[in-house]
Amino acid sequence: MKNNILLTCLLTLVTSVAWATETNSPIAIAIHGGAGTIEKSHFTPEKEQQYKAKLQEAVEAGYKVLSEGGESLDAVTAAINILEDSPFFNAGKGAVYTYDEGHELDASIMDGRNRQAGAVAGVKHIKNPINLAKDVMQHSVHVMLSGRGAEEFARKRGYSLVENNYFDTPSRYQSLLEAKKRLQQKEAATKDYRALHQSLDVEYKVGTVGAVALDQNGNLAAGTSTGGMTAKRFGRVGDSPIIGAGTFADNQSCAVSATGHGEFFIRYNVAADICARVQYQGKSIAEAGQEVIGTVLKPIGGTGGVIIVDRQGNIAMPFNTKGMYRASKSSSSPTFVAIYRE
Ligand code: ASP
Repeated sequence: MKNNILLTCLLTLVTSVAWATETNSPIAIAIHGGAGTIEKSHFTPEKEQQYKAKLQEAVEAGYKVLSEGGESLDAVTAAINILEDSPFFNAGKGAVYTYDEGHELDASIMDGRNRQAGAVAGVKHIKNPINLAKDVMQHSVHVMLSGRGAEEFARKRGYSLVENNYFDTPSRYQSLLEAKKRLQQKEAATKDYRALHQSLDVEYKVGTVGAVALDQNGNLAAGTSTGGMTAKRFGRVGDSPIIGAGTFADNQSCAVSATGHGEFFIRYNVAADICARVQYQGKSIAEAGQEVIGTVLKPIGGTGGVIIVDRQGNIAMPFNTKGMYRASKSSSSPTFVAIYRE
């Protein structure tokens, strides 16, 4: 009898300690919907409200997964799916147009527990490319699949493919027409594709979506999804599906999702560089993020921004552009939604 009482007390104690530990574990999520020339003067109050409401919906959906004890990977995909399904952002529905007037989508995801990663590049018929990136990570022996092969893999996984015109939106088409007009005007002066593309304003080169999260088990994850760059040609692939450039997560350091002029983010290995500074130089995520986005990228014209979360649930969202669609929420900070530098 005495032993039973003792055992019950012990069990109660163990359960409450476990519960307390679990509920005291920090959870956090941050999302972005692209960085660029985003200024208040471009928005009516209604439009601004609509963007903010969508960002809030996405961050709350991801946070709900975390607060119910779900995995950071699932929080990341839950938030990204909402942004992919919205025509406001350059990912999924609303993706920018290629030069040939279609859409080619890129996405990647990374698990901070074990550095598992999955990515897809140049897919044309996948409604939510981030989900396929996750399937590549979990159900293939590869990290990145591209184009038709990626879609064949999707079919095998039971995806129903969508028509490429599912991604169409009138405003993105307008941007393509403007971009092509500018390119053609410049073409008279140079046939150099690189110079031509560099002459396009940065606003044609940004607008991706992404999420980073920390779950109750202390696991980090990051994901990014995009339509890439307006008027891209020749199968161009940006940083978003490249592990280390647009997406990175490692429980040893941090989780990062990037948005911006992809060519720079690839060359400077931005997401991994930020986490390396955290891991090897003992920098905070705010310091490391500011260094790479502000000190390394800005002077060379590498426009964009990142969202970062660490294992303590700290969040940093540095950018070197006029604005970045962003939102965050953690167990120690309320929902934050912003567009401009404020
Ligand atoms: N980084 C993306 C790319 O270069 C674009 C963006 O973030 O908007 O494809």
